[in-house]
This record gives sequence, C-alpha cells and structure tokens, in this order.
Amino acid sequence: MTVPSLELNDGRSIPQLGFGVFKVDPDATERIVSDALEIGYRHIDTAAIYGNEEGVGRAIAASGIPRDELFITTKLWNADQGTDSAHAAIDTSLEKLGLDHVDLYLIHWPTPKRDLYVESWKALEQIRAAGKSTSIGVSNFLVEHLERIAGETDTVPAVNQIELHPYHQRPAETAYGHDHGIITEAWGPLGQGKYPLLELPEIVAIADAHERTPAQVVLRWHIQQGHVVFPKSNSRERIAENFALFDFELTPTEQSSISAMERGGRVGGDPAEIN
Ligand code: NAD
Repeated sequence: MTVPSLELNDGRSIPQLGFGVFKVDPDATERIVSDALEIGYRHIDTAAIYGNEEGVGRAIAASGIPRDELFITTKLWNADQGTDSAHAAIDTSLEKLGLDHVDLYLIHWPTPKRDLYVESWKALEQIRAAGKSTSIGVSNFLVEHLERIAGETDTVPAVNQIELHPYHQRPAETAYGHDHGIITEAWGPLGQGKYPLLELPEIVAIADAHERTPAQVVLRWHIQQGHVVFPKSNSRERIAENFALFDFELTPTEQSSISAMERGGRVGGDPAEIN
C-alpha cells in the first residue's frame, strides 16, 4: 500500500498517514512501533511528554529502514517553552530518539498564559536552521495564536496539529490553514474512543457498503478532507486495519454525510485554557 505525501510550505513532504504513540506504554513502545514499521508505516508522531521517545528510537534503529524513508515528529513540551529551554529540549529529544534530526518539531500547546509561544517559535526557527528539525510547526494553535506568529515572526508553520474528528471539525483553523498554506494534522482522528463514533448508524452503513470497518471509513474521510492522520492503537490487527485506507474511496455524498455530523464535540483540552 503506498501512502500519498502532501507538500509542506517549506518544499518538504509529509506522508499523509502515520502512527501516533500518545499513551503507548514506554515499555511496549519498541514492540508496537516495530509492528507499525513492519506493516508499512513510515511516519511516527511522538512527543517529549509521551515519555516514549526512547522506545520509538529503538524501533527505528532495529528496523534497518533508511533514515530518509522515515518521517519522525516530536514536540516541545509546555514547561520547556522559551529560547534556552527549547534548544535543550530538542537536544534531549534527539538523544532519546537516537537521531541527529527529526523531520518535524512542533510547539505542543500555545499555553497563552505563559506567553512564550512567539519566543519559542523563534527558537524553532533556529532549530530548523541548525538542521535539528527539517520542518517546524505548531499544535493546538487557535487562529489568534497563528495570527500572532504571522505578525511577529518570519516563518509560517508547516502544520497545525489539532484535535479534529467528525464531531469537532475546526472550520476556523482549517480555513486559516488552507488560506496560509498550513497543513492540518488531525489528532484524535477517531475521537479518542470518547464518543461512540464507530457505532453511529451512518458510519456503520457506509462501512457495510464498502465492506470496510467504521474506523477505516472515518480515517478515509480525513484523508479525503486533506488532513494528515496518525491513529493510535496497541493492537497489531488494528494498526494494519488503519493502514488499509488507499484502496477504496468514499463518494461525495458519503463524505458530506460525515461532514454533517459536526456538533462542537471537543473531547480533549481547550487550547485557550491549557497552560
Ligand atoms: P485516536 O482518535 O487515534 O484514538 C485512539 C483510540 O481509538 C484508542 O483507544 C484505540 O484503541 C482506538 N482505535 C484505534 N484504531 C481502532 C480501530 N481500527 N477500531 C476501533 N478502535 C480503534 O486518538 P489519539 O491516539 O489521541 O490520537 C492519535 C495521535 O494523535 C496520538 O497517538 C498522538 O500521536 C497525537 N495526539 C496529539 C495531541 C496533541 O496535543 N498534539 C493530543 C492527542 C493525540
């Protein structure tokens, strides 16, 4: 199965499907990421705060896959925002991952009360210039945070990684991204299992029509919306299921019926409040 790539605004490209490791137990990470790499995933999304960068690094090293075939993302944690601490944080992440650079480094949350995200963004510009991350982006940024970055710095983030699933589709952030060349990465693409998305009769009916699972239908909806996704699962069977998204297509009617499910259903933290 070939995963398509999307072009980033810095001329690089990103595989549209990856594997996320939020809440993957550090002791199990090497095995689970190895499973994902064996199945064919080449894009891994981790973060310093997940505590499992070492396991990701061990899986990469054991895989023997050439470095330039992999796309690895990690994130600057809130407590490490600021110039010096951001530089120290990327070095720590690279050491844990056993890599000399990542492909994408993100500010994990804007944490507006700290008011350090503009300074941190300038540090990420320097981190990119030093070759420690090929591309740089942000996560959980609202339009007001993106506008401030645009007004006070020289670099447009390559991506904004935000909570996004059928009940919470983030029209303001995706429209801003569309207008400014920022790719939207959808975290919690399956709603983190916090509402019965995969049991909704409309989703089940579409899955039956394609002889696919409800999870594949929701992930395929994301792909056709142009989002980057990296669903998480500990189960090898589901990791394989979530990879099989490129040999079927939803019709425009099916796509719009899922888009009609919006109900402002945030399941994670509020980016304006997390600090
Ligand atoms: P998700 O929507 O991927 O949901 C994961 C849940 O769905 C798990 O409980 C899993 O068991 C279940 N699941 C996975 N595949 C399934 C299948 N085929 N059938 C049925 N159930 C299935 O949520 P997530 O893990 O929170 O999000 C994906 C990734 O996004 C994370 O691993 C992480 O890399 C990233 N993320 C980023 C942030 C951020 O603040 N930037 C926050 C949360 C997650």
